[in-house]
Amino acid sequence: MQRAAPQAFDRVLSSMCTEPHPAAREAAERFLAANPGDPATYQTVAALEDDALALLGDITGLSSPHGYVASGGTEANIQAIRAARNHARDDDPNVVAPESVHFSFQKAADVLGVELRTVPVDADYRANVDAVSAAVDDHTILVAGVAGTTEFGRVDPIPALTDVAHDAGATMHVDAAWGGFVLPFTDHEWSFAHAPIDSMTIDPHKFGQAVVPAGGLLFRDTGLLDALAVDTPYLESTSQATLTGTRSGAGVASAAAAMRELWPDGYREEYERQQANAEWLYDELVARGYDAVAPELPLVAAHLPDTEFESLRDLGWRISRTASGELRVVCMPHVSRESLRAFLADLDGVKHPPARN
Ligand code: PLP
Repeated sequence: MQRAAPQAFDRVLSSMCTEPHPAAREAAERFLAANPGDPATYQTVAALEDDALALLGDITGLSSPHGYVASGGTEANIQAIRAARNHARDDDPNVVAPESVHFSFQKAADVLGVELRTVPVDADYRANVDAVSAAVDDHTILVAGVAGTTEFGRVDPIPALTDVAHDAGATMHVDAAWGGFVLPFTDHEWSFAHAPIDSMTIDPHKFGQAVVPAGGLLFRDTGLLDALAVDTPYLESTSQATLTGTRSGAGVASAAAAMRELWPDGYREEYERQQANAEWLYDELVARGYDAVAPELPLVAAHLPDTEFESLRDLGWRISRTASGELRVVCMPHVSRESLRAFLADLDGVKHPPARN
């Protein structure tokens, strides 16, 4: 059988994954067989996880972070809700979140037996604080805000949502799975430094340029992390707070390596490059008459007729749509101005097909 090669990233515009940084790739290869799920046995990778956690704390404004490198944003969101549920011990728990929340929240609600109440967003796709406020009650265990939404790259009003959560006696969780590595270079109020939020999802395997799988779950206080721990009788380590048992040492080592290499200057440069790409693409789409959504973070959404969308896919562009049908282009580190120019040239071609001779 022929040896399969991974596909190139040059036409991938829809994904929140990207080419890992060379230092992350190299670190991943070295730790392929180490299991951070058993830190007493695999002590070197456990120390790297401590490094990764400290760096995630630096990025998110938390001097003593509690948490771990998860398999991704899905696990981190499930675990944040599980921690809040275990901590609250409510017999009929609910979670309140804007409808822009990632679909991992549906999985979390299903797995954990928690009601998920999603509420409408405002005209600019951000959580509507009044709607969230109206939806919380005595059984609300967690309120979620998104800092960098999957579909439109929007940042919810985190400090106001935190007030709503805490007034209701609930935990405040911020999902910065995608946005966490670009937001430090913006004026948005999103982190542990901006509001007394309790937990956060932030994924090194997205804009952090680590290898897959490397997600991040952070808690301000150890109490919520402890609410996840189970005893582990047959391991050298005595308890485990993660959802998965054996975990990827490659993910952990690569997260530590990528952040050591890129925080803060490398991430700042990448943010500036991709924000400029997103704004350029937005201007180009608007100039062509498309109805587009101005990029707050490096993500552009635009209305595109079905025929043009499908023709671009046929030409090999990996593009996707929002739930409401817009094309979304995520300007990840592998996206270049050159590839965006090529994309627009193809768009012009499918919009105005050249006459046949
Ligand atoms: N949260 C947000 C905001 C996301 O955009 C995503 C994925 O795109 C996730 C969570 C889920 O992350 P993962 O696919 O790593 O599980």
